[in-house]
Amino acid sequence: MKISRASVIVTSPGRNFVTLKIETDEGIHGIGDATLNGRELAVAAYLAEHVVPMLEGRDPADIEDTWQLLYKGAYWRRGPVTMAAIAAVDMALWDIKGKALDTPVYNLLGGRSRTGVLCYGHASGRTIPDAIEKVQSLQEKGYRAIRVQCVVPGIDNMYGTPRGETAGQRPDLPFVEDGWATEKYLRFAPQLFAEVRDAIGYDVHLLHDAHHRLTPIEAGWLGKRLEDFQLFWLEDAVPAELQESFRLIRQHTTTPLAVGEVFNSLMDCHQLIREQLIDYVRATVVHAGGITHLRKLANFAEPYHVRTGCHGAGDLSPVSMAAALHFGISTHNAAIQEYGHHSEETHAVFPHAWSFSDGYLHPGEAPGLGVDIDEELASRYEYSRSYLPVSRKVDGTVGSW
Ligand SMILES: [Mg+2]
Repeated sequence: MKISRASVIVTSPGRNFVTLKIETDEGIHGIGDATLNGRELAVAAYLAEHVVPMLEGRDPADIEDTWQLLYKGAYWRRGPVTMAAIAAVDMALWDIKGKALDTPVYNLLGGRSRTGVLCYGHASGRTIPDAIEKVQSLQEKGYRAIRVQCVVPGIDNMYGTPRGETAGQRPDLPFVEDGWATEKYLRFAPQLFAEVRDAIGYDVHLLHDAHHRLTPIEAGWLGKRLEDFQLFWLEDAVPAELQESFRLIRQHTTTPLAVGEVFNSLMDCHQLIREQLIDYVRATVVHAGGITHLRKLANFAEPYHVRTGCHGAGDLSPVSMAAALHFGISTHNAAIQEYGHHSEETHAVFPHAWSFSDGYLHPGEAPGLGVDIDEELASRYEYSRSYLPVSRKVDGTVGSW
């Protein structure tokens, strides 16, 4: 079997997605997600201009060799654009291999390690009573793990919380500006979890995302005050470019720590893992080089008691979700999967075998990844440039969003 053609499909059924389709001379095709939120066309161009010409004529069965060719052969290593492009090729090749062998991809990864992939949904409140209602509503839908975020009084717009239609939008800027005040947040967050636990008890896992807003000592302070509420994890308390900065957090709290939705490679977290400075690594199949590299990362983390809790926001397409679930069902130290919301239009563009039931996600039994793209439908949703918000502190300094 040879790769006969590869093409990049950009579509926007509610939000932008970049998809790579690889076709073969035997009529089997595979697809991979290459979406990099807010920088979509950079990956589309990298694929179309530099990667696709290297694929044609290759044997799609040689997944590892193709991965190494695209990683080492480019000379310029890592980075989100490169690694998302490699991930898309990798996913598509696993999809083709599964279809060629008439088996779901998880079977090629060692078979099932569990019966379903535990997932968590998002409860985002305007007030604490509103957040509690959102948690209860997800519990009614079967969720066993829920991330709780809430508007902090005095901070107009902030990550992970509901916003008004024009909130933070300046007419002279193409992006939204959010506000941030660490002191207000640090006082509020323990109160939020005290009231949520009071209302719903301890039978559901609760998670919380600080979205890279704190310093290590602030994160230690917060983690210590959240210990009584038994969080599943405190996520992205501090940006992890300086991996050793997590030592200081660890010295001050036993609240489990997760980080890494922006990681591209094992090299972004090898020290965090080796020194057991985190409990969960959040690298994703789409931004960390596909199934091939994410498996290596997870295998490296396993003896250090670090498990995966892969990023899964709505900007990861249903193709990524499919690949994440074949990884998650088969990988022993895959602990949990974030499950972001996709619009009905997105589900229609990407028909898929994976499903949610009773708090767990299931990859399904279709051969390959069990997901496809309806190209005719996709062509009706034109790309629209969009940006992630930018965060500014009360004195006007740009912060981490
Ligand atoms: Mg996050």
